[in-house]
Amino acid sequence: MPPDSPPSDRERASDLPSYLANHDPAVWRMFLEQIDRVEPYLGPLQRWADTLRRPRRILTVDVPILMDDGRVQHYEGYRVHHNTSRGPAKGGVRYHPDASLTEVMALAGWMTIKTAVVNLPFGGGKGAVRVDPALLSPGEIERITRRYTAEISLMIGPDKDIPAPDVNTNAQIMAWMMDTYSMTVGSLTTGVVTGKPLELGGSLGRVDATGRGVFIATNCLAPKIGLDISHARIALQGYGNVGKAAARCFHQAGGAIVAVQDVTGTIHSGDGLDIPALEAHVAQGRKLVDFPGAQTIQHDALWDVDCDILIPAAMENQITDKVARRLKARLIVEAANGPVTPAGDDILKEKGAVVLPDVLANAGGVIVSYFEWVQDIASYFWDEQEIDRRLTRIMERSFDAVWAVHESRKLDLRTAAYLVGCERVLQARNLRGLYP
Ligand code: GLU
Repeated sequence: MPPDSPPSDRERASDLPSYLANHDPAVWRMFLEQIDRVEPYLGPLQRWADTLRRPRRILTVDVPILMDDGRVQHYEGYRVHHNTSRGPAKGGVRYHPDASLTEVMALAGWMTIKTAVVNLPFGGGKGAVRVDPALLSPGEIERITRRYTAEISLMIGPDKDIPAPDVNTNAQIMAWMMDTYSMTVGSLTTGVVTGKPLELGGSLGRVDATGRGVFIATNCLAPKIGLDISHARIALQGYGNVGKAAARCFHQAGGAIVAVQDVTGTIHSGDGLDIPALEAHVAQGRKLVDFPGAQTIQHDALWDVDCDILIPAAMENQITDKVARRLKARLIVEAANGPVTPAGDDILKEKGAVVLPDVLANAGGVIVSYFEWVQDIASYFWDEQEIDRRLTRIMERSFDAVWAVHESRKLDLRTAAYLVGCERVLQARNLRGLYP
């Protein structure tokens, strides 16, 4: 957030609601540009392409809660169904002070493409509350979660829209969402959200699924481009749920994680960081930047780090054309949603670097969410090996489908993945036809 913009908590009621005042459509424009790039390859399905440019439903809600000090504070929440042609909307909920409706629209759009690329029977949705949870007590976070869930309850349901964790949300928040929804409908409905605790219908393997999927997808790609992961130097932006699991997988495979960045700062070690020690350090509540045995570098210097693989695992809109020019990595693996802009894509292509796109690379999370939803409906739960076996199979099968289009149509991997995904969505749209 720019230093001069006040935190959303302090916005006054007399200010314009932020969906009008802070309407920065940059991320949504990025999504639209990606759709423009795939449209020429859609053949007769082009007729339906505007479906992807029009989110199906958009809801903005007021989320008033009682603060610990007795004040009543208002927050703004969103839930968007981008597309439901192939199944119920699916996608996470994030808590972030910069969240905006247009950002959520783009994130929902990416979910539509992602669920289709990996061929899950879901559409795309997303939600957010514009809040910095680091400024709130656990009780305040619970009250925001419950009120937000009640406000969006007309949009969600196990056969309508299934939220999940995303940036700054977790299994406890999913448990509160599930409980609030269940209380309003009058029966325990575990399948309404995924990413829940194991005790409440959660799935084994869900916490690490996105990071693990990032690793599986990279493993599929590496031999195709002559990259040996066991000797690769890797830089990582983001050390949240996804970044941690990805770092662990690459480290176990023999790769050297040479730099990691989170909100507290950026650490670097040319020989590779001791990842188990870093994970233990952060688990003790200490700052990443205070990790001993690493050098601290400037935030912006992450982009100049000498590495083979760069894994952005934080937020969208990070690798612009300017940043792309500086990167040394020959492979960029999008563990975050939307980290490389279309202009960034162009520069990387010019430089001969490969981008493994988000809609494939980070799909492991929603794949295991799908397993969780199936297990909840069946009330029958699989062991961890079963989850991993199925996750690996879907990731590999999806990679192969995208790679085949990349080769046969001579398209970069993002456009190839979009072609696979958009064709599935628009074929379903075409077969369903227009109502009435
Ligand atoms: N938030 C994750 C994503 O962006 C997971 C969504 C889900 O499991 O529904 O893919």
